[in-house]
Amino acid sequence: MKIVDVRTSLFRVPLREAMSDARHGAHTHFELVTVTIAVADGSTGTGYTYTGGKGGHAIYAIVEHEMAPFLIGRDAADIDGIYDDLWWHIHYVGRGGITAFATSAVDIALWDLKGRREGKALWQLAGGASKTARAYRGGIDLNFPLPQLLANVEGYLAAGFNAVKIKVGQPTLAQDVERVRAVRELVGPDVTFMVDANYGFDVPRAIAAAQAFTPFDIHWFEEPIEPDDYLGHAEIAHATGVPLAMGENLHTLHEFGYALAQAELSFIQPDASNCGGITGWLRAAKLFGPSGIPVCSHGMQELHVSLVAGFPSDGWVEAHSFDIDQYTTRPLVLENAYAVAPGEPGTGVTFDWIRLEPHRVS
Ligand SMILES: [Mg+2]
Repeated sequence: MKIVDVRTSLFRVPLREAMSDARHGAHTHFELVTVTIAVADGSTGTGYTYTGGKGGHAIYAIVEHEMAPFLIGRDAADIDGIYDDLWWHIHYVGRGGITAFATSAVDIALWDLKGRREGKALWQLAGGASKTARAYRGGIDLNFPLPQLLANVEGYLAAGFNAVKIKVGQPTLAQDVERVRAVRELVGPDVTFMVDANYGFDVPRAIAAAQAFTPFDIHWFEEPIEPDDYLGHAEIAHATGVPLAMGENLHTLHEFGYALAQAELSFIQPDASNCGGITGWLRAAKLFGPSGIPVCSHGMQELHVSLVAGFPSDGWVEAHSFDIDQYTTRPLVLENAYAVAPGEPGTGVTFDWIRLEPHRVS
């Protein structure tokens, strides 16, 4: 299991249309950084991370220049040991951010390799609790006029989802309320409905928004304010009683610890592409497990379906708006609105390298 090769690639993939949220401006591309690790007997595993279009070059450089040389010669079976040693290897420039994305891609490659060698699917390695998970479709739709927003939501229901999420954070609260009301009227009372502000509000505005959304039975209010403001989340939760969700911007186990202790969340959403891979996701999940807070995911549904299903917690998988399904061999599978984890050994994520190749940057 000695690591003999680490191959890193960067792709910049165009989206079918520009998509906006409250803080990141228009998304026109996503970036995909892939890492394929080979061991002495020729077995390989592939991991990856993605961005909303910025930072990919830096992630690629950290893997290529700092991590790959560190990995050569290591025992690929020692996933926890590599994870902890990598943490200290890049600690001075690390502890989150770009380095957490890079660590994620490396770690996922090691888990893919482990699953393939052991003949186990990721949902089994993640705990084996279930092969299916609750799923919702998350839109990046703040810039869509109301008719387009509603047409999109109708498309989600037609595709088999019974839970949907839209962006909020319009210039006025009245505009947000109009959109939230229209979506609730469209989907009816039985569809689960969440909203996501991508930290577009401050605490007073978030409290006002949460109160204005209350009549529309919002399942959760995601990232109402800056993710680092844990106590601000608690203030909103206490003032309104609205269930809060976040986690896609927490990159270290320490940050998850602060969120658990201080933020009064009702859902946690770690993202294995930026919180240290499968090892980081599982450590965060185990930290939250005893609290009973459902462990959900953000983005990367093709991989997270296995983690959310396999880990013993009743979390939700987000089916994200980036078109990753067009570049893998297995689009997300829904059965009775539940997402079904792939059964093949490893992560179950196989890229269509021929389709990706035109988008290669490095
Ligand atoms: Mg979000």
